[in-house]
Amino acid sequence: MSQVSYQALYRVWRPQTFADVIGQTAITTTLKNALVTGQTSHAYLFCGPRGTGKTSVAKILAKALNCEHLQDGEPDNTCEMCLAINNGSLTDVIEIDAASNNGVDEIRDIRDKAKYAPTLGRVKVYIIDEVHMLSTGAFNALLKTLEEPPAHVVFILATTEPQKIPATIISRTQRFDFRRITADDIVGRMAYILDDKGITYDQAALGIIAKAAEGGMRDALSILDQVLSFGQNHVTVENALDVTGGVAVTQLGAYLTAVAKGESAQALEAIEQLLASGKDAGRLLDDLIGYLRDLLVFQQAPSLVGETSALQDSHFKDLAQALAPAKLYHMINVLNETQGQLRLTNHPTLYLEVATVRLGEAPAQATAATPQPAAPSADVAALEAQVKHLQDTVATLQASGATATAAPRQKPAPKKHVQVNKAQIYPVLGAATKADLLKVKDIWPDLLNMLSVTKRAMMRISEPVAASPTGVIVSFAYDILVERAMNDAALMTELESALNRLMGDPLKVVLVQKDEWPRVRKAYLQEMGAPKAKAAKPAADPVVKTITDMFGDADNVAIKND
Ligand SMILES: [Zn+2]
Repeated sequence: MSQVSYQALYRVWRPQTFADVIGQTAITTTLKNALVTGQTSHAYLFCGPRGTGKTSVAKILAKALNCEHLQDGEPDNTCEMCLAINNGSLTDVIEIDAASNNGVDEIRDIRDKAKYAPTLGRVKVYIIDEVHMLSTGAFNALLKTLEEPPAHVVFILATTEPQKIPATIISRTQRFDFRRITADDIVGRMAYILDDKGITYDQAALGIIAKAAEGGMRDALSILDQVLSFGQNHVTVENALDVTGGVAVTQLGAYLTAVAKGESAQALEAIEQLLASGKDAGRLLDDLIGYLRDLLVFQQAPSLVGETSALQDSHFKDLAQALAPAKLYHMINVLNETQGQLRLTNHPTLYLEVATVRLGEAPAQATAATPQPAAPSADVAALEAQVKHLQDTVATLQASGATATAAPRQKPAPKKHVQVNKAQIYPVLGAATKADLLKVKDIWPDLLNMLSVTKRAMMRISEPVAASPTGVIVSFAYDILVERAMNDAALMTELESALNRLMGDPLKVVLVQKDEWPRVRKAYLQEMGAPKAKAAKPAADPVVKTITDMFGDADNVAIKND
């Protein structure tokens, strides 16, 4: 074999015997027994997630069925048949990728050729990968062959999606379900390969790779390939994190410690750094939730927290001491909600910053600030029930096949609208001009930079929507926080003084919830005597003209008289 090109680890280390197959002992034992006792089937169905060994086992089975020196159900890998199958030259073992050959003609071709005896081997083996991709016609043609299989033919059908295979086919096969490979098994295999190659490694790095591979050996070895391509003869945690996009457990611990100590500024800085270094916001949330769950478990039953987990972080045990279960549940809740919001936004940083501020709240406070009359104070049982309810809701949604985007994370609580302060809003609207709004928008980024870091995180999700020479109306995207912001005297003072410095005039700031804003504006226009101009031509309508003067282009002003 040519040594010029690099061979992927998963190819080089593809198992050659049943004993080599990792994590599927029940399946390999059953197959070996069938081979020893001569009770093999004419059709097998291998189901399971990608990278769990389906194709590898199919090939080993094909060899075992043809091997000249079968030993306890294992192919010897040295006879003519085994060698020919290993190098792909035996025409009696036919591999078909249904994803590319899904036509009826190809399967008819199989039917015609299956009739003929194998040329060299004992058994003709058809391995059909991704079999769920076959068309209905092709399935019907396959069924005909499976109904009356020639004595010398064995079919091995492999699929990641057995539910897409007709029951008539499944009933004619012996089915094996391949399981996800455990992280321990994957770590063990990678360690074995690295030892063999004489490459050293940090044990934690292998844990990170195994976790990212989610039970697929092929994925794990592909990630390991990428880590090795960094060129060092040592697999480091940093490289593993780089390739998997993961966050070091010590960084998670440092962030949560800052949150626990109420050091919001440090926590926000940590989040900004993580995201700036290219970490994915969704993954970061997953990892944080995982860390918090480990803390909860550790408090209840320390032995249940595995070796590859957060336990390796120096902050972990301190955090387990410092954070009460109610607080941990609160934090998990906040992060779960944030996960839901991230799916609907292009601004993950904002939501992570808001979450960081909310994580710092005491659970009781958080409940009071949330416009839902749900959990009473810091009652652990109630919070537990809430988490359970969330999990159930998510499970139900997942079972019903609802998409993540459409699925609300939580049963919508009866919405309590934040009080709209007409007495403050109307005077601003009465004197609002487009020019004033543009001036405020112009200095808004500078204004945010003048705020302290926690206030800035809150105000990042705000936007000036109308301005007069004496006041600004600011819409707030995040309904839970708008009420808190309104009642936060320090924030309002900071805002108004920064505004004063930048604009040269004292301006009153009025907050309005983003969802409420169109209604408030419409109500104002109606109370000011706007006609119901359903089909009015925008430019000719005096009311629309007024709106344009106040807010800018008519295009951006939604006028609905519904
Ligand atoms: Zn052999």
